[in-house]
Amino acid sequence: AKREGGGRVRLFEPAMGEEVLVKQKDKVDLRDALTRRQLVLHYQPIIDAASGRASHAEALVRWAHPTRGLLGPDKFIGLAEETGLIVPLGVHVLRTACLRAVRWRRDGRRLGVAVNVSPGQLSGEVFPREVAELLSATGLAPADLTVEVTEAVWADETAMRVLMAVRELGVRIALDDFGTGYSSLSYLRRYPFDLVKIDKSFTAGLGGDPRNEGVVRCIIGLAAVLGARTVAEGVETEAQADWLRREGCDYLQGYLFGRPDLLENWRPELLADPVP
Ligand code: C2E
Ligand code: CA
Ligand code: CA
Ligand code: CA
Repeated sequence: AKREGGGRVRLFEPAMGEEVLVKQKDKVDLRDALTRRQLVLHYQPIIDAASGRASHAEALVRWAHPTRGLLGPDKFIGLAEETGLIVPLGVHVLRTACLRAVRWRRDGRRLGVAVNVSPGQLSGEVFPREVAELLSATGLAPADLTVEVTEAVWADETAMRVLMAVRELGVRIALDDFGTGYSSLSYLRRYPFDLVKIDKSFTAGLGGDPRNEGVVRCIIGLAAVLGARTVAEGVETEAQADWLRREGCDYLQGYLFGRPDLLENWRPELLADPVP
């Protein structure tokens, strides 16, 4: 602590300077990670509740750090957003995921891919153009790509406009972590989207709390009225899956079916039979 004039004590000043330095170094490391291909995608199955087979794979980015091991997105997405690196990172994720989906297709597996997009990636008209170019370069059907955004995009008019331009291409839009942000019914009414992802905190509360169950039932009903499908995240038990299927939830995702992993490690019974 450092004593200032007037007897005020300033705490943490040296530590704050250190923090800035650490951040600067992390930023350089993350930029290097992008060029050195240390960012890898794991895929988590999204199960069609009716067939029990995977209909989509959500791409979740990891940093294969040379000394710190495999880092989850919570360790570096915030930094990427603050530094603007989210833009090149996002392009890398989108490209890799689309190419992967096309390869599944060549192997006779029809599996869509879902990619998380931060509001910072939606700040200009280049994004829809990049998506369009990627789709035509890879030959991926637009409907086989889903872009997942949180309710945070609603606060940003440009981001919303850019997102709707992406949707015009035929790409599906999913509202991620639904019910945890500033969900506003007026936005829901104003903007079309294709999927609602029920946040895992709601799924975790199933079986025990009747109020929570009532809320989840309402989200499913609301999505139906708006012409959207529902995905329940964080499904960990058979009881949760049964309840959600009974209530008409369209897709299920969670550790019960598989953790995010390389596609090679997915349980084979999750994949639909190959189409010749
Ligand atoms: P999210 O999109 O809500 O992803 C779901 C998170 O829940 C993932 O964490 C996943 O591993 C975890 N999860 C899945 N099933 C279960 C379950 O049954 N139980 C529990 N307790 N958790 C489950 P992860 O991989 O750590 O990702 C965290 C967040 O990082 C994601 O949340 C997403 O917002 C963000 N993220 C991941 N990849 C990207 C990316 O490529 N770009 C951007 N912008 N954000 C990303
Ligand atoms: Ca997501
Ligand atoms: Ca989510
Ligand atoms: Ca989340």
